[in-house]
Amino acid sequence: MTASRSIDTGGGRFADQVVLVTGGGSGIGRATAVAFAAEGARVVVLGRRAEPLAETVELISAAGGVADAVTADITVEDDVRAAVDHTVTTFGRLTIAFNNAGAVLAGPLTDLDRAAWTANLDLTVTGTWLCLKHEIRAMRANVDHGDGRGVIVNTASNLGAHTVRAGMGAYVTAKAAVSALSRVAAVEAAADGIRVNAISPGPVDTPMSLRPGETPQDRAARLRDASPLGRAATRDEIASAVLWLASPGAGPAIGHDLVLDGGASL
Ligand code: NAP
Repeated sequence: MTASRSIDTGGGRFADQVVLVTGGGSGIGRATAVAFAAEGARVVVLGRRAEPLAETVELISAAGGVADAVTADITVEDDVRAAVDHTVTTFGRLTIAFNNAGAVLAGPLTDLDRAAWTANLDLTVTGTWLCLKHEIRAMRANVDHGDGRGVIVNTASNLGAHTVRAGMGAYVTAKAAVSALSRVAAVEAAADGIRVNAISPGPVDTPMSLRPGETPQDRAARLRDASPLGRAATRDEIASAVLWLASPGAGPAIGHDLVLDGGASL
């Protein structure tokens, strides 16, 4: 579990904001949910498993923040609609969404089976689109205070629109689509006063970036020469970038895909 942060009860950058985080029970999603709550937001975390979501809620509550959990599968439209409705019913509105749920499907293109390929696209591409669809519809109901009706950040990857890797074709293809989807959503939603952007991390210090059989120490050794930065990003560093994109200070950022890979894809 991410170490708890004390909650800013004196307002905070995200006071009055209601944030939905998909994949909020672990890794980057949990760190970002905790970071938003630490700056005053009320947060709803979404995932398929109740237990990790409850741990995130507990982390936030223990630090004095406000959070709730909703179990949902983002590939199921009724689940996504219900999760967005739950957020609005519980906290009055939805103003920020971080569409971050994802998974890796590895293997050479010639070895992948069709069912796994389709499930991968369903999760990463269709799941992100379904979230965008229902989040944008909900955000349209918000009053525009001059800084817009809402902000959405989607998690793509540097493996996708920015670089490719053998053996990662399914993931690369799906994440490239998330980058493209984010740009289309950005130009469509801008007229509603809703900003949509993406982040494209390189390796982050979560189990997802470990190769089969690899320890975190092995990963550190592998990454030393793999980018100018020479290490994985921390999940808190990624969270901090998401918070910036979601903040009013990032007002001109629309359709941006923020690459956070320590220069690996340069
Ligand atoms: P993680 O800890 O495995 O988080 C993935 C989350 O997605 C889990 O909490 C999982 O919860 C949720 N999820 C998966 N399928 C779902 C579904 N159908 N419906 C709802 N929730 C679902 O991995 P992470 O490292 O934090 O990665 C988060 C995002 O960053 C992913 O999109 C990943 O592709 C991207 N990313 C990660 C890295 C990296 O190095 N870690 C690099 C670039 C991009 P449940 O299993 O409970 O549903």
